[in-house]
Amino acid sequence: MDPTPLLAAWTTHPPLALIVDRDPDTRKLYAEYLKLSACTVEEADDGREALAKAIARQPDVIITETRLPGINGIELCELLRRDTTTRNIPILCVTGDALQAGRVQTVGADAVLVKPCLPESVLAEIHRLLDESGELRLRARTLRDTVSPQLERADTVRARARRIIHRTVLSRSYERVETTEPPVTPPSLVCPNCDHVLRYLRSHVGGVSVRHPEQWDYFDCGDGCGTFQYRQRTRRLRKIST
Ligand SMILES: [Zn+2]
Repeated sequence: MDPTPLLAAWTTHPPLALIVDRDPDTRKLYAEYLKLSACTVEEADDGREALAKAIARQPDVIITETRLPGINGIELCELLRRDTTTRNIPILCVTGDALQAGRVQTVGADAVLVKPCLPESVLAEIHRLLDESGELRLRARTLRDTVSPQLERADTVRARARRIIHRTVLSRSYERVETTEPPVTPPSLVCPNCDHVLRYLRSHVGGVSVRHPEQWDYFDCGDGCGTFQYRQRTRRLRKIST
């Protein structure tokens, strides 16, 4: 396919990777590598959590160990392939058990790496899977973009109702802040105009209530393309000034 639309999709919607491993150091290592290539990252430390997050967040790629507590990686692949909402998400299995490698592919993983393997190899595999699924991904995004304004409208109505009911409580209990150390790490993004890495400025943490926090991250382009706002909830980047 023509690489341009994929690149454009990548810059405005950073791909979401779900990393599944019970070892926090491994997750952290992969997460750091992925963030360098402008991916956003979600983590899970067991199969059950992974399945729930895969269904709820619809990641663009899933990286999983085979040895997981509860539902293991093999069972996780089977369940992901059985569910219509997760059927097409590319899965990369990274396993410490060479004997499981063949089995993993029969249950639906798209690629398998046997540990020990370099994070660079993991990253290369992920890029390959994302490129292969790029066209599918774009189609899914388009669908999601059509649906999300409707969801947002419903949210607004619900939020307004809640605001009226809890106006006094909210004003005292929920603090909205400007910070450079927000609860969710801002993603690494590139400028949609010139492809240079955007410079992170600050975040606004707010939202309608404590239970529904929101975070907006602000960036600017070193080449003077303007200031950009990234909304964590919708994972949208938009230009707010020149
Ligand atoms: Zn720029």
